[in-house]
Amino acid sequence: MHEMSLAQGILDLVEQSAQREQFTRVQELRLEVGALAGVEISALQFALDTMSQSGILHGAQIVIDTPPAQAWCMQCSQTVEITERGQACPKCNGYQIQATTGTELRVVDMVVID
Ligand SMILES: [Zn+2]
Repeated sequence: MHEMSLAQGILDLVEQSAQREQFTRVQELRLEVGALAGVEISALQFALDTMSQSGILHGAQIVIDTPPAQAWCMQCSQTVEITERGQACPKCNGYQIQATTGTELRVVDMVVID
């Protein structure tokens, strides 16, 4: 499952910063998953919940934000917001749009316990 390996990647990242910054537990982990990242949020949440049963994420509250993606519409000559890949421009209904953000998955905030 794609989301399981993403969750593993996030866990690796958290463990690396734990080593670097000398903390042992995470209280809260906030992630941002772009609307075009192709990630199923419920599956990712499930995978992270499974991983937080033990280890560094034990008991951590995991919050996943899904901000809308931004795209450039060539017809409107402006940036518009879209929520899924292949969507038409919400302003002119055209398809000449190019996604500029929304494909990323990142850790935005982490509250740690020493
Ligand atoms: Zn448009």
